[in-house]
Amino acid sequence: YDVSVDDLEILYSLGRGQYGHVDRVRHKKSGFEFAVKRIRSTDDPAERKAMLMDLQVNNINGGKCPYVVRSFGALFREGDLWICMEAMDISLEMFYKKAFQLKIEIPESVLAHITFAIVSGLQFLKEELNIMHRDVKPSNVLLSRKGEVKICDFGISGQLVQSMAKTRNIGCSLYMPPERVDPCAAVDDQGFDIRSDVWSVGITIIEVAIGKHPFTTWRNPFEQMKQVVSGPPPKLPDNGPFSDNFKHFVASCCQKDYLQRPKYVDLLKHPFISQFQEEVSDISEFVGRILDAPAP
Ligand code: ADP
Ligand code: MG
Repeated sequence: YDVSVDDLEILYSLGRGQYGHVDRVRHKKSGFEFAVKRIRSTDDPAERKAMLMDLQVNNINGGKCPYVVRSFGALFREGDLWICMEAMDISLEMFYKKAFQLKIEIPESVLAHITFAIVSGLQFLKEELNIMHRDVKPSNVLLSRKGEVKICDFGISGQLVQSMAKTRNIGCSLYMPPERVDPCAAVDDQGFDIRSDVWSVGITIIEVAIGKHPFTTWRNPFEQMKQVVSGPPPKLPDNGPFSDNFKHFVASCCQKDYLQRPKYVDLLKHPFISQFQEEVSDISEFVGRILDAPAP
């Protein structure tokens, strides 16, 4: 697309991450609105070229799947890398935090639909594009007022952030499974299995259901690594309002041996998801309620 910066108007900030910030932007002539993530980039032409090549290789258009955020490409502007994508209304992270502050319980049927969308999006990435996500977490799941649920930050920005994390030596995330925290914990040399993402789905859903990340007692990264690798896997509390189906679903995602974790086809057949699939396919009313409530 041949769009100059002057044609664009920044509407408001959508959020901030470790490596940059995201704005909602409007193309003045057409009125088309989208999201731009700006990442501070390097002035070194060689490094830039490598970055762009990476992006071109990974210019993945998820537009064919309703559970994947569409990408509109990337460009360098004013020393920043701009990644243009479909704008959504709220991240799952902000959504669940606001709901908990408002003391509004997220119904299990809504959680099941969100889970269905995440798993369907990941399945699309794997089956159609042959990639794994590698950064599944509540801030990389986005919701719209229309009730859409989509995953983002795979491929283009995901790969970039991962390579930046590597070079900046921040390799460990709160959503990583044992075999990635400690590669020696992998039972064979395929430790980087697609089912690493299944663990992260489990952690993400527990976090949204209980209102906080299930591991919160760490004082430092070594404790985190020790708990993930040596401790019991996280689970939903037994005394909570959660159904047996829901508890079983989450427990099967968060198995420490990744070979035991179900594949996406199996997850989609799990009663936690299948029981609600027809009953609640429209979560727009609930999403709208949270969006419209004044911030507490
Ligand atoms: P992180 O995912 O680690 O929070 P990011 O830089 O990827 O960091 O995103 C920062 C925030 O911007 C996200 O938490 C999310 O709330 C918001 N955001 C990102 N992409 C979009 C988008 N396409 N539409 C709406 N909000 C977005
Ligand atoms: Mg993100």
